[in-house]
Amino acid sequence: MTWLDPSRVAERLSNRSGLHLVGELVRENGGTFPCVRPKAPEKPAGFGILLSRSPKAIQASFEPDHFARPLVSQIQETFDSAPSALEGVLQGLVGDEGRLVVAVDGVRVLGGDKLPAHEWGTFSVECEKPLRRVTRGGDQVLDAAVEVAGAVLAVVLAGLPVEPVEEIESVDGAGLPEGASVRVVVNRYERSAANRMACIAHYGLTCQACGIDFARAYGPLGDDFIHVHHRTPVSQLGEGYVVNPVADLIPVCPNCHAMLHRRSPPLDYQELRDILAVRRLGEEGPSASET
Ligand SMILES: [Zn+2]
Ligand SMILES: [Zn+2]
Repeated sequence: MTWLDPSRVAERLSNRSGLHLVGELVRENGGTFPCVRPKAPEKPAGFGILLSRSPKAIQASFEPDHFARPLVSQIQETFDSAPSALEGVLQGLVGDEGRLVVAVDGVRVLGGDKLPAHEWGTFSVECEKPLRRVTRGGDQVLDAAVEVAGAVLAVVLAGLPVEPVEEIESVDGAGLPEGASVRVVVNRYERSAANRMACIAHYGLTCQACGIDFARAYGPLGDDFIHVHHRTPVSQLGEGYVVNPVADLIPVCPNCHAMLHRRSPPLDYQELRDILAVRRLGEEGPSASET
């Protein structure tokens, strides 16, 4: 038995990213490590994310397969042509605790840096997060593992080809008439799984309008569940626009998400938050609304 069940990390990250990940144990340097990897690209041309731990911290690192040269070339090509894709995702992932290091040929890259023009020898992504002194059962290790592996995955995915993005949009006019169907717009391509994870890493998994936290409300069933809403409708973004996961995306619950889309263009989540605050004041009675 190892210190961490990789299939549980894979399951949580699959829920969070919308991709299919699997967990496995990997033997390396005489040790056995938990590892998670996306189903595609397949072995031996894909990559895994290796997890390790020290007494006080947990680490994740990008581990390309033996024949992953085309994958690394693809990442280089993407970040060459759209440096803001890396910058945006790094901005979302940088938290107040922990450390995320992206390096090319051993030299650390920060958001906004010019990337080396020659063919990259190595590309590495490592994330470390301290384990809090207070132990609240075994799940703290799992939570930290999901965070560090998720950060590494988001950086790598940001460097992979774009994928189609769906965004619900209400029919024209003022909101949805009863019984009217919701239009789903799929006319944009972006690094959606990477952006989604960077957005969640930045804002957390609570609804930014009403504050519900699904893991708190529903227990393990609610782990990693949240919708991610495009603050500017996808249909209005220009062709070459690179989504910034902090400025352009926001996590909201399905109820609040539906309420945002009752107007066209959608309300901003802050307007919805104000509406909810006013409603709450009203319910607390006249004494609370005097201020
Ligand atoms: Zn909500
Ligand atoms: Zn939306």
